Amino acid sequence: MELTRRDFITSSIILAGLFLVPNRFLYAAKETGERWYPAYGKLEQEGKLAQRIEQAYSIFEQCELCPRQCGVNRQKGERGFCQAPAKPVVYSANPHFGEEISLVGKNGSGTIFFSNCNLRCVFCQNWPISHKGYGKEIEDKDLAGIMILLQDIGCHNINLVTPTHVMPNILNAVRIAFKKGLRIPLVYNTSGYERAEILKILDGIVDIYLPDMKFMDADNAEKYLGGASDYPEMAKKAIIEMNRQVGEHLVDRHGIAARGVMIRHLVMPNQVAGTKKFIQWVAGNLPKSTYVNIMHQYSVEFKAFDYPKIIRRITVEEYLEAMKWAEEYGLTNLDPKSIDIKNIYTKQ
Ligand code: SF4
Repeated sequence: MELTRRDFITSSIILAGLFLVPNRFLYAAKETGERWYPAYGKLEQEGKLAQRIEQAYSIFEQCELCPRQCGVNRQKGERGFCQAPAKPVVYSANPHFGEEISLVGKNGSGTIFFSNCNLRCVFCQNWPISHKGYGKEIEDKDLAGIMILLQDIGCHNINLVTPTHVMPNILNAVRIAFKKGLRIPLVYNTSGYERAEILKILDGIVDIYLPDMKFMDADNAEKYLGGASDYPEMAKKAIIEMNRQVGEHLVDRHGIAARGVMIRHLVMPNQVAGTKKFIQWVAGNLPKSTYVNIMHQYSVEFKAFDYPKIIRRITVEEYLEAMKWAEEYGLTNLDPKSIDIKNIYTKQ
């Protein structure tokens, strides 16, 4: 069949429409309503970013960056629980398309995977990076170069995965990168095992917090999270502080995340993660419009095979139950992909 000029124009418009439809039409999210400018840029222009970097770097001398509070001098080569040196170790950096829709957009989230970890879960799916520390040690200026590269290839944000133990390096790199033209949001993609006092250093620097809330029960946290029985209390305080700093999830006019807290909770088999308690806690302590991603993709990895309660994937019923609780407790801003999964499971 011959394609007429009119057919060609019509199909071109449809195709262009597919690529131009802003993500905001794909899910309900609030817009910032203002022209976005990086929080770290404002702080630099006020002359305060350098002070924060100095403050953060001084902690390396007796490392208390996270709740482990090892007290080691990382500047002198001592290593604490996370096994991290004073320089950042990076495993990979690339556009990532598996994150939340507002982070991915059309061009991907500019993900930087840092090696080592201060939590070290027994079911870690990134264990060669987090537990074994595979990666390359680099300078802060090289980290800045990676950020610029990710921006140059069109990524919508810099997504710092497992950043806690390298926070001072990140701040230094962000300042260098800002001077070279970095102008996209920073995403602090953390396990949630943070000290609220330390997070205050990031106030006015980080645009988007992406914390996990992994476990609500101290005994389970101790068993599955490297002995971190204080994880639930630390993560709760940290998320409250994150919410104080950046508030609820906001997007720009194209549906791309600009600011706010986005909480992830992985549903675990046999309710070991305490999903119902998590939802109750969010509903009782944060705005009900807080962005919450209830995740279904738990898989048995690394040392999980040694723990009978977590030696299987979750069932459809377990996931649907979690989503039902979220609705019952009135959470109004659930991740759109989690709603899609719920709808698919409901039809099964
Ligand atoms: S960041 Fe590492 S060395 Fe510092 S307190 Fe945490 S686990 Fe210990």
